[in-house]
Amino acid sequence: MLVALNMAVTLVLASLFAIAYADVNDAAMVDNSNASEWLTYGRTHDEQRFSPLTQINQDNVDDLAVDWYLDLPNTVGLVSTPLVADGVMYIIGSRNVVRALDAVSGRVLWTYDPQVAKTAPGRMRAAYLHGSRGVALWGDKVYFASTDGRLFALEAATGERVWSVATIPADRAMYITGAPKAFSGKILVGNGGTEFGPSRGYVTAYDAETGEQAWRFYIVPGDPADGFEDEAQEMAAKTWTGEWWKLGGGGNSWHGWTFDPEFNTVYIGTGNGAPWNRRVRSPGGGDNLFLCSIVALDADTGEYRWHYQTTPGETWDYNSNMDIMLADLEIDGSEVKALMHAPKNGFFYVIDRATGKLISAEKITDITWATHVDLDTGRPVEVPGARYENAKTRVSPGPFGAHNWPPMSYNPNLGLVYIPTIHMTYNFDDSAVDLDTWQPTDWFSPVPKEGLAVASEQDLSVRADGSLQAWDPVTQKQVWEVSLPTEWNPGTLATASNLVFQGTAEGDLVAYAAETGKELWRQFMGSGIAAPPITYRINERQYVALLVGWGSAASISGLRSVEALGWSYGTHPRRLVVFSLDGRQQMPPSPPPAPAKPIEAPFFEVQESLAKAGGDVFAPCSYCHGAFAIGGGLAPDLRASPIVLSAESFADVVRNGALLENGMPAYSNMSDETLEALRHYLRQQAELALGSD
Ligand code: CA
Repeated sequence: MLVALNMAVTLVLASLFAIAYADVNDAAMVDNSNASEWLTYGRTHDEQRFSPLTQINQDNVDDLAVDWYLDLPNTVGLVSTPLVADGVMYIIGSRNVVRALDAVSGRVLWTYDPQVAKTAPGRMRAAYLHGSRGVALWGDKVYFASTDGRLFALEAATGERVWSVATIPADRAMYITGAPKAFSGKILVGNGGTEFGPSRGYVTAYDAETGEQAWRFYIVPGDPADGFEDEAQEMAAKTWTGEWWKLGGGGNSWHGWTFDPEFNTVYIGTGNGAPWNRRVRSPGGGDNLFLCSIVALDADTGEYRWHYQTTPGETWDYNSNMDIMLADLEIDGSEVKALMHAPKNGFFYVIDRATGKLISAEKITDITWATHVDLDTGRPVEVPGARYENAKTRVSPGPFGAHNWPPMSYNPNLGLVYIPTIHMTYNFDDSAVDLDTWQPTDWFSPVPKEGLAVASEQDLSVRADGSLQAWDPVTQKQVWEVSLPTEWNPGTLATASNLVFQGTAEGDLVAYAAETGKELWRQFMGSGIAAPPITYRINERQYVALLVGWGSAASISGLRSVEALGWSYGTHPRRLVVFSLDGRQQMPPSPPPAPAKPIEAPFFEVQESLAKAGGDVFAPCSYCHGAFAIGGGLAPDLRASPIVLSAESFADVVRNGALLENGMPAYSNMSDETLEALRHYLRQQAELALGSD
């Protein structure tokens, strides 16, 4: 009896131990013996987001039901990919809080809170909207990067911190949104912040055990007078003109980090220029390496191997930070070790990853800036006038891109890539910009005024919708397309049973037949979706998991189509929902979508001149509260805020930081006059909205 009890205790302890221990290595992230798990951002090192699991298939997918769910704090949007190893799921959510859960029951095993609102309130101004796209696993540890630029190693078993290291300078408005990349005992992370004052992008690899820096690669060259860090910088400097280093140059790599064990190479996707307009940052022209490129680096040393620049001399925010996917493709009868990439600029690229040579590039949407990519030179052929010099110019794609960070997936059995696609146009115009004297205002004025012509709501966009496309990378042709009403939709998941899963901005999780795009299942999730789904299997049961919570870039776009989705701050749920064929739970309730209603305040007399002055300083506010104060659900819609009606309350929040914990930073040096002007602007926008009802 006692022996039996002891054995039972031992078994329980053993299973507890097993459930909270991961041992993740490169082989596990390549080998499909780990078919049941989801060990890295794209499941395996190739970033294909393809699961070999087949229990859920085209015949039974409409039997999917909620197996378990976990309600999460109702704050910012959720954009991350959960990881699953050894029965434990790891998620990162609002304020970069990391949780480990029993992946069968949803029980929370531990929680780690990096206290980002407290440690970096200033930086929250720049990065509030983004959140983190995921954690990484290596050995027995979990890694994540916080908004304020710290990289953390936690014990997977307990959530206890092993080390943390600051990866960005304290005096820069840079930040991290990406899931760190774990490979070969190293943890790689980059940073964002191209739009926030002088910024020089880089990626850094750290030792997974100690947190010591292993190597760093700069994406754009610094001041030549200081000497170059390596030969690659010297080469890059020849493609810049003027005094680019004074404005930083940009190129920040905030996403798009892939490890290739076959070539022991890391590919990084790089960002756009800082500032956007090339005429400002590099007035004599030039390609401006390594902006908007894929750069291949030696995984051991960070040494430059090759690069392919998708948008030479970019000037439209067409960064190449999107996911970089590896696959072996049969092209003209021979097998090519290929790399696939769909950056913002609207082309789908297939590149020979052994050499960096372009194989093919075709358009995935309407493009007006280039006619095609010349396969001999590897360069896009630009349309005259697309560079908006001294003229308002409508360009497609817009700065959201034709494809943004929501990841593609690939079904190698069918040879199809599933791309969340954005169809948008935008106005650019630099005629009002003094090219010689332009300076970034400061950290906290993120809207790049050096070329983006957003003078009115009408300027925002003519076409703004989306689609899910199945793309054949060998023929470079679309195989099927499903139109989606809203432009910004989340990443996709492909499975060996020929299913494709994708959420929608309207709040549905949808399963499609991978060969045809036929819709097979649809479930309303209670809030707009911004995160990609995953699948895993434990005890012979296959699960599909998704973080639900509207957010990301579309929510601040000020587009009426986004406002009309009706996701208002604090109203709609943030939760993790896990489905299986044996699920027995009901979908938890949530309020119906309804846009925030602007408050009527006839006693508040808007003064035109004050409102105009307020509009001029609203730019940094719009980064969370929406262009023209049109709330998209990420932060409170200020047209509906009673706080705006009281000068005292308004000052308390905006200047004194009363809502710091919620992520609202304190603008402590804002004058009474500026605060008053902002209130008048906000009430003006509220009255405009009320008047148009
Ligand atoms: Ca950018």
